[in-house]
Amino acid sequence: MQGSLRIAIVGYGVAGQAAALLLSAQGHQLSVFEQAAAPGPAGAGFLLQPTGLRVLASLGLAEQVLARGQRIERLHGCNGRGRDVMDMRYAEHAPDCFGLGLTRGSLFTVLRDAYAYASRIHAGVCIEAVAESGDRLRDSAGLLHGPFDLIIAADGAHSRLRQSTPDVVKRQSMYPWGAVWCLLPADTWPHVTELRQRYAGTREMIGLLPVGRRADRDGQWLTFFFSLPGDQVDTFDHPALQRMRERVATLWPEALPLLADIQSPQQLHRARYRDVVLRTPTQGRVVFVGDAAHAMSPQLGQGVNMALLDAEALAYALSLHRGVDEALHDYHRQRRHHLGVYQGMSRWLTPLFQSQHDGLAGLRDLGFGPLARLPLARGQMLKILTGTKKAWWR
Ligand SMILES: Cc1cc2nc3c(=O)[nH]c(=O)nc-3n(C[C@H](O)[C@H](O)[C@H](O)COP(=O)(O)OP(=O)(O)OC[C@H]3O[C@@H](n4cnc5c(N)ncnc54)[C@H](O)[C@@H]3O)c2cc1C
Repeated sequence: MQGSLRIAIVGYGVAGQAAALLLSAQGHQLSVFEQAAAPGPAGAGFLLQPTGLRVLASLGLAEQVLARGQRIERLHGCNGRGRDVMDMRYAEHAPDCFGLGLTRGSLFTVLRDAYAYASRIHAGVCIEAVAESGDRLRDSAGLLHGPFDLIIAADGAHSRLRQSTPDVVKRQSMYPWGAVWCLLPADTWPHVTELRQRYAGTREMIGLLPVGRRADRDGQWLTFFFSLPGDQVDTFDHPALQRMRERVATLWPEALPLLADIQSPQQLHRARYRDVVLRTPTQGRVVFVGDAAHAMSPQLGQGVNMALLDAEALAYALSLHRGVDEALHDYHRQRRHHLGVYQGMSRWLTPLFQSQHDGLAGLRDLGFGPLARLPLARGQMLKILTGTKKAWWR
């Protein structure tokens, strides 16, 4: 790219943060808009895959996240009767391969501290739409911002910019299931290098992921995840909290003492998921990245990683081409196969773990074990886990 561009980034989540870092390093003039008055992390913790860790390493941030996070070597899921459904080790993919459990706060802080212009973010500005001219943004107070040579829509799964650009949307639906989740002290938890899950049919799923340190509290932490139908996520209250405790006591007694710290339903974050597929991630000067472009269920644990890869691919395309149009075309080409695989996989696999289709649980519990013993299938499953499956057939 010749010369610097005037670029707007809408949303200061993972995708927006990574894009801001990469594009400011290329010398572009950035205007970053974030609706939250005090930008910060949302949710509890997540699993960073080798793909996402590689992007952070290329930003010079690997050491910082490794120091804050918890190395994860195994994914182990059992059904309510204690039968193994899933048992995968990163080292089977490659000897030095691992995932990293990390709090949202850790990643947010590392990315923000690396961004020299963080104090210039337009916080508390909710962008409603791209103006008719195509190169300006309109906020919720009716103010216009711009003009810009490029607008990066990184405003997450419920993207307003996407709603205001309906032509790009191919598919956009709400999953009927969601979850409540929070951070819990991990001091007594013995499975420190494992993501552990417990499934009862397809209606109940509990997860515990060690996520290392928090900036604001001492000790080691876990992300606790409890799956619920969407309407119950929205109305999660004291009786629901009590029911959740009872189900954990029945399905996973070993995990129950960890919940002692939860006194109120407000301590749990609520999450509903969307399935979003765009015809194209670009329209005119606007490019959609992260969840705004491809929200999916968190079943495969890839959304943060995809957001980091999107930002990296966009910055690379902009560094390579003379014009914005060519760069956006190249960006789409770089990302579409990888994204297509994970969007398809998460749409097919999510009902096996979070749905009202009870019959699928038997299929999952009986089928996954034998399937995973076939070397070819196991290799593919490990690729999917590590985020490295880039195309369906190659
Ligand atoms: C329960 C759960 C567990 C998950 N676990 C994992 C995991 O283990 N591994 C993994 O890789 N991924 C996981 N994910 C997915 C991951 O959280 C998302 O894919 C990722 O956060 C997407 O990043 P983003 O930057 O695209 O969007 P977001 O992180 O949602 O950021 C969007 C930002 O835009 C801002 N914004 C929104 N609208 C506007 C507006 N109109 N104007 C200005 N600003 C706006 C928001 O305030 C926010 O700061 C999980 C998700 C959930 C719900």
